[in-house]
Amino acid sequence: MIDIHNYFKNDYEESRETFRGLLSKVQKVWPEAKLYQHSIGENEDNTIDIIYAEATSSNDKVAMLTSGEHGIEGYAGAAVIHLFVDQYLESIDPSITGVCFVHAINPWGMRHFRRVTENNVDLNRNYFLEETEIPYDLNENYEKESHIFLPKKPVDLISKEKTELYEALSKGMMNEGYKGIKQAKGMGQFQFDRGVYFGGYDEEQSASHIKTWQRHLLEQFKKVIHMDWHTALGPTNEVTMVISEKHGKEEEELKASYGMDNIQVFSPDDVKGDSTNYFYELRESEFSSTSLFSALFEFGTFGTSREAELREFTTIILENQLYWEGTDHPESREWIREELMNMFYPQEDEWKEAVLQEARVAIEALLKEEDILQSSAPNQTF
Ligand SMILES: [Zn+2]
Repeated sequence: MIDIHNYFKNDYEESRETFRGLLSKVQKVWPEAKLYQHSIGENEDNTIDIIYAEATSSNDKVAMLTSGEHGIEGYAGAAVIHLFVDQYLESIDPSITGVCFVHAINPWGMRHFRRVTENNVDLNRNYFLEETEIPYDLNENYEKESHIFLPKKPVDLISKEKTELYEALSKGMMNEGYKGIKQAKGMGQFQFDRGVYFGGYDEEQSASHIKTWQRHLLEQFKKVIHMDWHTALGPTNEVTMVISEKHGKEEEELKASYGMDNIQVFSPDDVKGDSTNYFYELRESEFSSTSLFSALFEFGTFGTSREAELREFTTIILENQLYWEGTDHPESREWIREELMNMFYPQEDEWKEAVLQEARVAIEALLKEEDILQSSAPNQTF
């Protein structure tokens, strides 16, 4: 039996401390492994922490696991990296394989239990090959329906806010409003810096830093396998792989080769600034002889029904409004805080167990197929 409480931490500092402590375990396999810390933003103590080791004799391949691109989602991601270090290192051949573990790409967001950075930026809409590619005027529908998505006044009584928002969103389903926010969710928006799904006016420090690591790995290794851990999307308590069509395989083909139930392929035409898509673009433009696999792995919470989708938008919109405008109603604050946790970091044991179990499925499916794990990997169950 595994003790889930070893893996899921209560705050950013505790999670980071645990991560830093993994270095000695990694060094047992890669004696030269090092911990790198990089401060992001105003508070110097908000750091991206990276444990990195090159292969001990030939840099054939590397496993990169990243967490916390969306702040609050990093708690589950950190749990998965911890699980990986505890259970899979022995199944890797260090002479030809390196590792790169990243804790909290968005440390401010993780510390403050928000998805976005301290500049309100959804980091996964912020990775562009050239700064000139930032699509400032992308989203007309968002602009038309901005009364729904932009905070203008403090959060009222939660029952009132919920009713109004459900009404506006349901009505919006018939017109641009709903399309607008659905599109904004996928594409980001680059005009309203206090709105939800803001992709930024400029490149964020976090994105710049991760880009240097992406480049470094493509330079150093013949093959890079990247798993970026997230929460919320997809069927409840299941893992979903989300991968750029730049990878080059169809959904069905991927399902067959990796043996996973939930796989979504996205087009860069619908999703702007995604870090995994950027990884493929960088490889294509400068490292065409390096092989790359890069995908997001999402642990589902609310589910995939229309009702779940409404609940998701309501949570995201009210959390953003609360952050910028506050509220005079403590119960509104409490409801929003709880609902945000339900969406991105549920506290039920059942969900946490599912995360670890499903992570194992994804890790084994991927890393065996990609020859990182030798097939003698442990097969423990919970
Ligand atoms: Zn995410």
